Amino acid sequence: PSVPSFRLNDGNSMPQLGYGVWRVSNEEAVSCVTEALQAGYRSIDTAAIYENEEGVGQAIAASNVPRSELFITTKLWNDKRSYDGALVAFDESLKRLQLDYVDLYLIHWPGTSGEGYVDAWRALARLKEEGRVKSIGVSNFMVPHLQRLIDTTGVVPVLNQIELHPRFQQTELRRFHAQHDIATECWGPLGQGSLVTDETLAAIGRKYGKTPAQVILRWHLDSGFIVIPKSINPTRIRENIDVFDFTLDADDMRIIETMNDKSGRVGPDPSVFG
Ligand code: NAD
Repeated sequence: PSVPSFRLNDGNSMPQLGYGVWRVSNEEAVSCVTEALQAGYRSIDTAAIYENEEGVGQAIAASNVPRSELFITTKLWNDKRSYDGALVAFDESLKRLQLDYVDLYLIHWPGTSGEGYVDAWRALARLKEEGRVKSIGVSNFMVPHLQRLIDTTGVVPVLNQIELHPRFQQTELRRFHAQHDIATECWGPLGQGSLVTDETLAAIGRKYGKTPAQVILRWHLDSGFIVIPKSINPTRIRENIDVFDFTLDADDMRIIETMNDKSGRVGPDPSVFG
């Protein structure tokens, strides 16, 4: 079974499950992305700040997967969060990736001072009009940021990439996303590794012959999210995409829902970081 296609609000589609490369060096990115493509991943999530766009680009260039089958995401870093800054940063990312377009470009963080993110958003809208990026979105935005973008530009992001896992379920943001047809893309889906030894998840997994990591990713998929787990271990890279031959039942879903914890963040809080 292969990765389902997820329809975005601008009419484009992307794989519901992809491969993330945070804290992967350029050298590692070449082998890891090659490994991921061989395992069947077609969506790759990088960012300028990960400093591995060259490695991702090399793996893509060396692979025999047609460009049209790939879905490449990169992100605008905080020091370029302005109209002109975004246009320059985008060109640099494209060059490092050796691509002539990216599928999805995101504003990485909204920031805590000023509204540079609104100006940056106008630049992303221009890049989309020019066809150099197919879809545009945001990351780590909270409800007021999203509302501000929509009110001032009328351009709705296709998705918001946020920390979301069983211990931090982001119910308020999800409600807003649903109202505005913004997809929820989940980073840190495995709690950055902190959830893979959870006994509740392990018990659910035993029913299906699946690991806790696979149960977690299945929960994301069954909840209607896009998800981008990361591993540099070839066995785990394969394990994390081997989740399309089972579904969780309603009881499992309810049990996982009860794991939600308002203070369950493992990453930075966008109201004070970025
Ligand atoms: P994750 O939840 O995907 O956890 C990754 C870690 O979990 C691995 O380093 C490994 O230690 C462990 N792991 C992975 N698969 C496993 C398995 N099958 N069994 C046991 N352990 C396993 O965390 P992440 O890397 O932070 O998030 C995924 C991706 O999301 C990143 O690589 C990046 O692309 C993106 N991300 C985006 C932001 C953002 O601000 N937009 C922030 C963090 C991450």
